Amino acid sequence: MRERIERVAVLGAGTMGHGIAQVAALAGLDVALVDASEAALTRGVENIRRNLDEGVSRGKVTAEQRAEALARLRPERSLGAAVRKADLVVEAVPERFDLKVQVFAEVEADAPADAILATNTSSLSVTDLQSTLRRPERVVGLHFFNPVHIMRLVEVVRGRRSDEGVVAAAVAFAQRLGKDPIVVNDAPGFASSRLGVALGLEAMRMLEEGVASAEDIDKAMELGYRHPMGPLKLTDLVGLDVRLSIAEYLHEKLGAERFRPPEILRRLVAEGKLGKKTGQGFYNWE
Ligand code: NAD
Repeated sequence: MRERIERVAVLGAGTMGHGIAQVAALAGLDVALVDASEAALTRGVENIRRNLDEGVSRGKVTAEQRAEALARLRPERSLGAAVRKADLVVEAVPERFDLKVQVFAEVEADAPADAILATNTSSLSVTDLQSTLRRPERVVGLHFFNPVHIMRLVEVVRGRRSDEGVVAAAVAFAQRLGKDPIVVNDAPGFASSRLGVALGLEAMRMLEEGVASAEDIDKAMELGYRHPMGPLKLTDLVGLDVRLSIAEYLHEKLGAERFRPPEILRRLVAEGKLGKKTGQGFYNWE
């Protein structure tokens, strides 16, 4: 079956949802954006408007494209109304399995039977989500990166029961948004977090062992491997607490020692040194 995606519903208008709605509307799709919170929906639409204004002032988007994208965007208060005619539903609600299960159950009840259901989860198992649904073969992961309108990567996550046509349609959708997708089989941390966190944890162990300073470990990757930013500085930007919880999750799910959080990470988090957001992490940001 050839999949046709023209109408998209985005569930959750937060950090990720508003960005996904924006890039889809800009790519010429009809987009319904819904949020459980009226205030969050208003904020999401304002963010889209502001991003598009900025795009126009930087010459990335024409005034006409901006106007057309906004005309294609439909804020919705009811999930049922948002998904009723959707070819693709992308959920970007908070990262809680029970919440995603509940939202997808509502979607399955109201969306067309052949709609593709995508989750923007950054860590939960797509296969586990599929097991709670009546049409698991229509479900796929579409993992965007923050900020959505700037980051080119999309991980298309193939759950164990995802239909190949659905995976191919998700790839084509990401490309239509101007993204550069990769396809990953459902596994903890997908490709991006698993590799990125492995590098970060090893850099922390090297720092603990006194192999080199944080600056020099980062410089080794920046100059020697052309990473735009070293793994310790990147951890400071992401947040040490965020990285710790991903490491704990990967350690538990993969049972691999290399994901056991290093002492230095636990200690800094316990001291409230969470990186840039608190002014101190592996670096002093003040
Ligand atoms: P967020 O908290 O910024 O936004 C979530 C929105 O969902 C909120 O506005 C909330 O009101 C709304 N919401 C809650 N329950 C809802 C419901 N039942 N129906 C409709 N809307 C509902 O969260 P976020 O950072 O955008 O994350 C969303 C998802 O994207 C999570 O799964 C997260 O793991 C994933 N993700 C986040 C990032 C990131 O950098 N923030 C990156 C990649 C993936």
